[in-house]
Amino acid sequence: MVDPGTAITLIGAAASTVKKLIGLTKDIKNIEVNSLVVDLQGNLVDLKSEIVDLKEEILSLREKNVLLEQQAKQRDETELVEQEGAYWTKDMKKGPYCTACFDSNGERNRLTELKGLLKREIADYECKKCTGRFHKKSR
Ligand SMILES: [Zn+2]
Repeated sequence: MVDPGTAITLIGAAASTVKKLIGLTKDIKNIEVNSLVVDLQGNLVDLKSEIVDLKEEILSLREKNVLLEQQAKQRDETELVEQEGAYWTKDMKKGPYCTACFDSNGERNRLTELKGLLKREIADYECKKCTGRFHKKSR
């Protein structure tokens, strides 16, 4: 995993080295060397600032990623798919729901499974809201 903290530490060490270099080159009267050392120090300051910005962006993106993963998980748990003539959650843990009610007004009305003669002669499920009756497709 990328650790911006390590990069900031390394930049700090490089800046410290440049400071020592400035101390050593103070007595050197070579304008070009002194100018290059000052440029190097400026570049390190800019680089450190850039890394701090990148660190903030990485943290922000990690937070967004966690949120998106939670939303995707929640969607998988609540999104409906058609199975056996009714709607179920993708993981098949909740359902069956009435397709007529959901398709017309988005209501999630759980179907009641019929038993005995009703199941044999009429349907597998019944919606108590719209009285729709459903057969399992596998029937
Ligand atoms: Zn219904």
